[in-house]
Parts: sequence; structure tokens; C-alpha cells
Amino acid sequence: MTDYLITGASILGGEPTDFLIRDGVVTSTRSLPRSTSTTDVTGDVETIDATGLVALPGLVDLHTHLREPGREDAETVLTGTQAAAMGGFTAVHAMANTDPVADTAGVVEQVWRLGREGGYCDVYPVGAVTVGLAGQQLAELGAMADSAARVRVFSDDGHCVNDAVLMRRALEYVKAFDGVVAQHAQEPRLTEGAQMNEGELSGRLGLAGWPAVAEEAVIARDCLLSAHVGSRLHVCHVSTAGSVEIIRQAKASGWKVTAEVCPHHLLLTDELATSYDPIFKVNPPLRTAADTEALRTALADGTIDIVATDHAPHPLEDKDCEWAAAAFGMLGLETALSVVQETMVDPGLLTWAEVAERMSYAPARIGRVGDHGQPLEEGAPANLVLYDPSVRRVVDAAESVSLSRNTPYAGMELPGRVVATFLRGKPTVLDGKLA
Ligand SMILES: [Zn+2]
Repeated sequence: MTDYLITGASILGGEPTDFLIRDGVVTSTRSLPRSTSTTDVTGDVETIDATGLVALPGLVDLHTHLREPGREDAETVLTGTQAAAMGGFTAVHAMANTDPVADTAGVVEQVWRLGREGGYCDVYPVGAVTVGLAGQQLAELGAMADSAARVRVFSDDGHCVNDAVLMRRALEYVKAFDGVVAQHAQEPRLTEGAQMNEGELSGRLGLAGWPAVAEEAVIARDCLLSAHVGSRLHVCHVSTAGSVEIIRQAKASGWKVTAEVCPHHLLLTDELATSYDPIFKVNPPLRTAADTEALRTALADGTIDIVATDHAPHPLEDKDCEWAAAAFGMLGLETALSVVQETMVDPGLLTWAEVAERMSYAPARIGRVGDHGQPLEEGAPANLVLYDPSVRRVVDAAESVSLSRNTPYAGMELPGRVVATFLRGKPTVLDGKLA
């Protein structure tokens, strides 16, 4: 196994530092003076000049759709984890809405194993809360937790666990193994046929509205249930200012509630629907500029704990049609860090150290993933990303390594580029290309 000497890297945006990756771990760091560490180096060593690059712990995504098994025309575990590596991720949580649904030990073990075999990114399967995501009966949560995949995150994502009794039971059940229920908060009756954020604009465009209260009502109920049961709730893809206020209150009460925001909800607004281009159709929908502002503030002050991509690949035929017929969802893995730089770092809302917390440490903690989300210190597993924040690039959908092309950022200029990603000391990306 090749060792790597990384020179001049700015760990979490700090002073230039040299460090060595040996046998899959960070073996020596020297703050200053630089180049002293080269005296430690013998044998087969490749030097990477990381001058000007920010070194971050490998990113961890709590919300990824890898589509395998069942929709291998949209994405596979291999292509999805390659896209993750290109985005600086070393671990992703694969959502359960596959075909068959990941609601048994057999399916979650299959997905976990495919991730290991691919070697680009560790895959932690999310188990379904209910059998077949049907919202009728609890899935075998314990069997999935005990499986080789050691599932700790459970979600019917794509669907809301709308039945309060089932939600309560799931919260009670996962306590036994320190699991968490990740809720897709969408009141189904309030969103029947909904296409975009409900507001003056939806009326003008003639698209059925998706009211903020449909998200907020479920989040409020689930926070209360979480407190009642004393169990961990995680709120997926928070998209409204009202949701932020409910979560703020829950946290102030000391309840075990965590929350995520997606990059697209930090950057894009419902105004994009005026194009009628379904590339901007997503669940929950793009909201108003005021919501975007509230989400940025909440991510900065810690009310929202993490950024999660909700990477949702779709083949062309499911997006290249009229708005109402198109699938919900957009790609996110390869552009997440750039969007966070654009919306949070460059405006001074987050430091790189805080980005590490929101995109690596905290998601690893919520998912109970011990091997990831650790500081880049001596002896830590060498899961890391080297990122160049100084460049800008125009996003080209054709350059994506995902099997799908539904990025909402195509043609947009975004800052930053992932130069290298390491998984346990092995490069998955080098020179901005898959290794
Ligand atoms: Zn969802």
C-alpha cells in the first residue's frame, strides 16, 4: 500500500501543515515548521502538494439514494459511491426506497456488501420503518440492526410515517439499540397532487401548491412523540422557516431531535419553477428566499445539525417531460461542498471547522458510524478530502460520474473543487478524477 505525504494542506482552514498517510491512518502531523516531516518518510511514498487546499475529514452523507437494487438504470451502488467520492464523501447512508425495499436483513446486507466491494465509499444502509414503505406495519427493525449492516438509521424516506401510533412504536423500538428514526415530514392529505411550494407563485403558474404546514405539522407532532418516548428523532430535509422554529423549540427543551438541510434548499428558490423545467422539481419543494435565509441561519447557529444531500438520481425519461409528470428529486453528491461554500462559507456564516462538524462529525454521530467523522489527528483513520476553495467552475451535467444527469446546477458557476478523497488511506479521487 502506497504511503502519501500531504504537504502544505490547510487542515480545517488552519495553518499549512504536512502530514503522512501510512497504512490507512494519519501517522504524523507537523503544524510548523513545514517539511520537517519529510525526514520521517522512507520507502514507497507519493507526495501530494496540497498548498492552498483545505483538508477536511471525509464527508458523511446521512441521506443518499443509490437506487440499487431495482433501478440500476438510474444509479448503482458503484456509480453512486463514485459520485460520492468525487464530492469528498467517504461514507453515505443509502435510503431504503429501493425495489425490493430495504426492509429486511437480507436487503440491507446486500447493499452494505456492494458498497464494500466497490471500495469508493462506505455504504451504511438505512432500514425501512414499515414493511414495503407502506405505512401499515413495522419492518423487522431489530433484525436489520443485528445484521452485518448494523443498521442504526431507519426511514421510510419518500414516504412519511404518517400513522402516529406506528411512529411512536418505531421510536420506542429503536431505543433498544440506540437507533434513530429519520422522518420524511409530509402530511399526505395536505400534499395530494402537490407540485411546488404553495404561494402566490404556485397560483400564478397553475401548479398545485405544497403548503409549508404539511411539513411543519408532522415535525411538530414527531418532536412531541420523541420527547414523550425519550427516543432519537432526525428530521430529513427541513425546508421551511416554520420548521426551523419548531426544531429550535424542541432543542431548547432538551429533546433528542436532530435535523438536516439539503444543499439545494440553501441555494435554490421556488422562483426557478417559472421555467417549468422539472429539473427543479423536488420533494420537499424549493421554497421562498425567506425560507432559504432561515435555513442558512439555522445551519449556522446549529439549530439544523447537518447538511445531507438527498442525492436522487433519475433517468432522463423520468425528468424530460412536463412538470406534473416528472419525478421528484435532483443529484447532489458531487456539488454539495461547493454549494455549502457558496451559501455558507464565502458569506462568513460557517468556518471550515464548522463545515467539518456539519458534514462529517455530526452526521457520523447521528448515524452512529464510528469509523468516520473523526478529526484529522495522529492515529485517525485516513478518511479525508482535499478541497480547493479558490477555483470556480461551471457545472456540466455531462461530467457527472453518476448514471443520471439531473443536476439542477447545470450551467451555474459554483466555487471549489474536490482535488482528492482518501478512504482508509487509499485514494478514491486524485487530481479531481476517480482513482
Ligand atoms: Zn425525503
